[in-house]
Amino acid sequence: MNDDQLLRYSRHILLPEIDVEGQQALLDARALIIGAGGLGSPAAMYLAAAGVGTIAIADDDTVDLTNLQRQIMHSADMVGLPKVASARATLHRLNPQARIEPIQRRLEGEALEAEVARADVVLDCSDNFATRHAINRACVLHRKPLVSGAAIRFDGQAAVFDLRQPDSACYHCLFPEGEDIEEVRCAVMGVFAPIVGIIGTTQAAEALKLIIGCGRTLDGRLLLLDGLAMEWRSVTLGRDPGCTVCSRAH
Ligand SMILES: [Zn+2]
Repeated sequence: MNDDQLLRYSRHILLPEIDVEGQQALLDARALIIGAGGLGSPAAMYLAAAGVGTIAIADDDTVDLTNLQRQIMHSADMVGLPKVASARATLHRLNPQARIEPIQRRLEGEALEAEVARADVVLDCSDNFATRHAINRACVLHRKPLVSGAAIRFDGQAAVFDLRQPDSACYHCLFPEGEDIEEVRCAVMGVFAPIVGIIGTTQAAEALKLIIGCGRTLDGRLLLLDGLAMEWRSVTLGRDPGCTVCSRAH
């Protein structure tokens, strides 16, 4: 680290849990963020500000006026532009030293697998079950830690699936595919703006901890937020031995 970096990250380095080694781990790390919307905005901004060296961010959408109520990485002058272009501009302003790799497409198939394989940590900031399950399958295959988040109305949830660990649950253990879980989207149901901020920021915190290797992550727990009552609950998760996604990997 040069003098500028030692100064820029001094409030991290002061923390004994992080120190120079932890900050260097962040600088050397590559994070993959899928979704540059309400969750991806704070997640990407905190990772960039905190010094994660390379941030790949994937989204095929463009910035819409209805996004601006909560997707704080995008500003009014970016309406109509690709979200990943807006993301790159915002993240570059925050931290010109961070390498931002915009991926302007819906990541799926081999491209998704290749990006997951290159990442040290994967943040699922998407908004639909098909994408969530595809990300989970790629993370199981490549044994990558997955930080999952979701938010709708006044409710949010976050979980970590540290698939580097042999006994860790996967997303599919928790939400099996094909059980017809009702797909609810912000576009139809509405979402209270700060909820995506709280959950996306929680995802950033967990991703940083996974890279640094400090503290206790949300691995094995699902954190649930009732934003109307402002109450948090935590549910313990176990691996489903019959899970069709992760049991074959063991
Ligand atoms: Zn599983």
